[in-house]
Amino acid sequence: MTPNDMDAFPEELSPQQVEEWLRKNPGSVALDVREEFELADGILPGALHLPLSRVPEVTESMSHPDQPLIVYCQHGIRSLQATRYLRQQGWGRATSMSGGFVEWISNGHPIQIPETASELDDEQRERYASQLALPEFGMAGQQRLLKSRVMIVGVGGLGCPAAMYLASGGVGTLRLVDDDVVSRSNLPRQIIYKSRDVGELKVPLAASQLRDMNPGTTVEEHILRLDASNVMELIEDVDVIVDASDNFPTRFLVSDAARNRGIPVVHGSVHRFEGMVTVFDPQKGGPCLRCLHPTVPDPDLCQGCAETGVLGVLPGMVGMYQSTEALKILAHMGDPLLGRLLTIDAMGGKSREYRLNKAPGCVCNT
Ligand SMILES: [Zn+2]
Repeated sequence: MTPNDMDAFPEELSPQQVEEWLRKNPGSVALDVREEFELADGILPGALHLPLSRVPEVTESMSHPDQPLIVYCQHGIRSLQATRYLRQQGWGRATSMSGGFVEWISNGHPIQIPETASELDDEQRERYASQLALPEFGMAGQQRLLKSRVMIVGVGGLGCPAAMYLASGGVGTLRLVDDDVVSRSNLPRQIIYKSRDVGELKVPLAASQLRDMNPGTTVEEHILRLDASNVMELIEDVDVIVDASDNFPTRFLVSDAARNRGIPVVHGSVHRFEGMVTVFDPQKGGPCLRCLHPTVPDPDLCQGCAETGVLGVLPGMVGMYQSTEALKILAHMGDPLLGRLLTIDAMGGKSREYRLNKAPGCVCNT
């Protein structure tokens, strides 16, 4: 086979043949079908990256099936699979590089280090491998997360699970705000705390556990109650606020302050066997808390968990939904619960979604 004999383009070429082909045909396309986390050691110079799972989706919309296409992966197995698929779809000049990237570098051929990959160290690439393997999240999503800052208002039933998943997932900075101490009745749902912690302040205990889970996450401790005098300063530089508080005055304070600064609020609440999650972000078209409740509800109608009761696992579910929404917003992926209220009925094993619109006369509409 001579590389110039395009009509005889075989199903596979050796790295030597590929190198020669690319050198003599500078406009040729090399397609890397590995997962994002595999790119850290480099790619072929100028190669396009498209994980194997996305090959059908993307190549269907490409309009040059006559073009020679060099496909490669780590060892040459996935790329052969992709090549056979492409040939069935009319890409008659798709060819797989046998031996893959491993053989390419062992032959001493040139490589290029992708800018994004070089920013994660070995420990991070190993720690986040499963997330990096998701094409929708990948290196770009992980890096956004690592640079992000999230404030968690309340490290109780909702805030504990939310904080645990956000720290473990790789959020760069978590700002914990709470002035409460652990009580024995917290333990069935606030699972970051231990029996021996009763009577101790929550924020330092939670911070210490979170740092153990992921030393790469910076955890800021704010042992205070959020009020009008400190809220603006505390939310100043955050990307997302997780409202995991347990009272309406704090929820209104958070919603109003965030609306002023254009910061999304992931709202969660629980009542007995039912939980609710939504995202408030009026700048992106969704409502704010005042669209639902124009004034702060009567405190007598809003008792805490101790008075009305709650199944311990339910705030766990809601807090995890909140962390999921926060991760989606931070990584720019998926469809956040903006203008949508998700309710979870633990007793019935059901969840429902309701449309939430901006209220015509609300402050967020002016
Ligand atoms: Zn509003």
